Amino acid sequence: MKRKIFLKASSVFAVGGILSPILACNTTKPKVVNLARKNWAGNLQYTAEKYFEPKSVDEMQSLVKSLNKQKGLGSCHSFNNIADTPFSQISTKNLNKVINIDAAKNTLTIESGAKYGQFAPELNQRGFALHNLASLPHISVGGACATATHGSGVKNGNLATAVNTIEFISANGDVVNLSREKDGETFNGAVVNLGALGIMTKITLDIQPTFQVRQDVYQDLPLQALKDHFDEIMSSGYSVSLFTDWQNDNVSQIWIKRRLDSEIKELGADFFGAKRATKNLHPITRLSAENCTEQMGVAGAWYERLPHFKMGFTPSSGEELQAEFFVPRKNAVEAISALYKKGNLIFPELMITEIRTIAADNYWLSMAYKQDSVAIHFTLKQHTPEVMKLLPIIEAELAPFGARPHWGKLFTIAPSILASRYEKMPEFLNLARKYDSQGKFRNTFLDLNIYQQNS
Ligand SMILES: Cc1cc2nc3c(=O)[nH]c(=O)nc-3n(C[C@H](O)[C@H](O)[C@H](O)COP(=O)(O)OP(=O)(O)OC[C@H]3O[C@@H](n4cnc5c(N)ncnc54)[C@H](O)[C@@H]3O)c2cc1C
Repeated sequence: MKRKIFLKASSVFAVGGILSPILACNTTKPKVVNLARKNWAGNLQYTAEKYFEPKSVDEMQSLVKSLNKQKGLGSCHSFNNIADTPFSQISTKNLNKVINIDAAKNTLTIESGAKYGQFAPELNQRGFALHNLASLPHISVGGACATATHGSGVKNGNLATAVNTIEFISANGDVVNLSREKDGETFNGAVVNLGALGIMTKITLDIQPTFQVRQDVYQDLPLQALKDHFDEIMSSGYSVSLFTDWQNDNVSQIWIKRRLDSEIKELGADFFGAKRATKNLHPITRLSAENCTEQMGVAGAWYERLPHFKMGFTPSSGEELQAEFFVPRKNAVEAISALYKKGNLIFPELMITEIRTIAADNYWLSMAYKQDSVAIHFTLKQHTPEVMKLLPIIEAELAPFGARPHWGKLFTIAPSILASRYEKMPEFLNLARKYDSQGKFRNTFLDLNIYQQNS
């Protein structure tokens, strides 16, 4: 065993500073004083006895081969135990290099632990852009793709839809390459993989010429206007987000991100009854907008406008929980209306809700598999018992629409129901067994939600 890439959780106190896993997972969170390794939000203490940070694909390969039970770990931003295991966690933190920008093929190849915010400026400088980004740039590409992380936009697929090729280390240590061009349905099954097939080491993404974006924010949209004009409102920009606290039949903010390389018409001071904001806002209106990307129609590079939060700052609110549910876009108004009726139950535990759109894709375990979707997201107070009681209420309201939960956030949907909402779940299980016949990458999350339901 290579000791220099091995950290036993119990030895963290002795190692201290530089190798502290706190630095690995909580760099933008000054509040954390506990040296135990936790996820970004601090609501989950990882149980892994051993923790590794390989510095090369070769080191990753020998680790995967030599270790038995293990789990790949990205930037620790998931809220549930999807990335945990009591055995070994292998972080992709040090696999963060840009390998190649191929201007002829319009592709970017990077190591899987690279965070969007780290390589986006270089990509932009070289004249290129990604099609979309999540609300924060702090997450790793591997973790984002493995869980179908998304931004917004009626025509924008989730971030994994930019994936062209993946390279991963399967359970027996083989380096596997799968591409959209050559591997058809196997590729569609393998990209959103929940870490079940192996550990992705390199990812090639489609890129496009760089573009500028302006961000305009409106406040206080009447709910009735949203119900009457949902598609028009969500299509009013390249990427549109709604924020609400489910109170007073009101949508507190609309963030409209528009590309400057497409035709832009003046939206006016009044947008379906909402008023143009007079200063930059945080989605939670009472919080300072300092952490947020520039608004007020000021043009900027794609990577400085598509996320809501700036790279160098804490995204969102920090001490929080998150849950998110995807329903077909055609049911958006019904689903949103049902939740407004439960607004008084949701409000006490809520920081803010965000509503976004995601275009349909072909990835078996994507929450937007084969359906244009609306994602209804909840940033919740870090009151775990209360939140876990609230989630079934939200899930019951969304059950008639076959809601699929975000894989990296909290949910309580029964595994059998979850399985019924993914028609390709059995095929995914076969794929997992093909690349991980020994069950090395299985953990409690996968056993519950994937393996036991499909045996
Ligand atoms: C403040 C905040 C804002 C967020 N905003 C959004 C948003 O706008 N949109 C959205 O959809 N989600 C959002 N999320 C959720 C987040 O994008 C997902 O949880 C995502 O998985 C985080 O990536 P990560 O690298 O931290 O993954 P981790 O949490 O480290 O891991 C998640 C899963 O991916 C697997 N994994 C990680 N790396 C690899 C790899 N290289 N190979 C194979 N498997 C791997 C792990 O095994 C695990 O199963 C947000 C989360 C936070 C904390």
